[in-house]
Amino acid sequence: MAEGRIEILRTVAALRQRLGAWRAQGESIGLVPTMGALHEGHFSLVARSVKETDRTCVTLFVNPKQFGEGEDYGEYPRDETRDAEMLAARGADLLFVPAVEEIYPPGFTTSVSLAGIGERLEGAFRPGFFTGVATVVSKLFLQALPDKAYFGEKDYQQLCVVRRLVTDLNIPVAIEGCPILRESDGLALSSRNTYLDARERAIAPALHATLVSLGERLMDGAETGAAIAWGTDALLRAGFSKIDYLALCGTQEVEPLDALDGPARLLAAAWLGRTRLIDNIGLG
Ligand code: AMP
Repeated sequence: MAEGRIEILRTVAALRQRLGAWRAQGESIGLVPTMGALHEGHFSLVARSVKETDRTCVTLFVNPKQFGEGEDYGEYPRDETRDAEMLAARGADLLFVPAVEEIYPPGFTTSVSLAGIGERLEGAFRPGFFTGVATVVSKLFLQALPDKAYFGEKDYQQLCVVRRLVTDLNIPVAIEGCPILRESDGLALSSRNTYLDARERAIAPALHATLVSLGERLMDGAETGAAIAWGTDALLRAGFSKIDYLALCGTQEVEPLDALDGPARLLAAAWLGRTRLIDNIGLG
């Protein structure tokens, strides 16, 4: 395992050349797309890829197309040097760090969007978000041609969008979903947690705790609408300033469910001051 240094490539041509050489030797390739500011959640995806494939390529690209007006594109944490060092220590083989113009050169006009699944929840509150995600993920898949690609359940709807995307477009990559890594108090690890001040950080675990209690109520047979209303109120009482959504959904299309009568997912997005947190849990 290569300790200390990791090869960093910045152009699609160089990426294709390196991965093509590995593929020609019969080596399988795992892709881990990220926006950097890496933490243990990201590293759990890298660990899966290192275990399951011969070569692991991590991508670091803060994708402007998935940030809306007034969102945190400019202030999103960036620390390539630290990310590269940590990835080398975790056994990744390659870090792809394209500039924005490498991914979206002048004249770029194609976009990939998903009706339905791409328009609800995150898609409704962040218009254009999933189009940005689907467009860049499609490009990364076509650039790297990986055998497997690893995505976290932290962004559960995104994982489902990516599964739908590769099915619909016949992109031959196996999508591997990985469980959410959490702090000991339940807060899901996220690059955006660094935005939280001490007071907000103390409130933040209530998001996961509320999802868990709400899940228990639903499993005990509570009526969905009443249980969601309880959960919304619990989040506001805990100190969240605004709830974008708190929803019981199907596990593949992430469609809203009226009742819990099979496998389901509880998903939430809520604001703590200027920071928007998302989380989800599985039920049934
Ligand atoms: P991001 O850099 O935030 O775009 O995340 C890159 C990948 O890491 C996505 O597939 C995320 O779902 C995944 N990820 C982020 N946070 C976590 C976490 N706490 N546990 C597991 N996976 C995560």
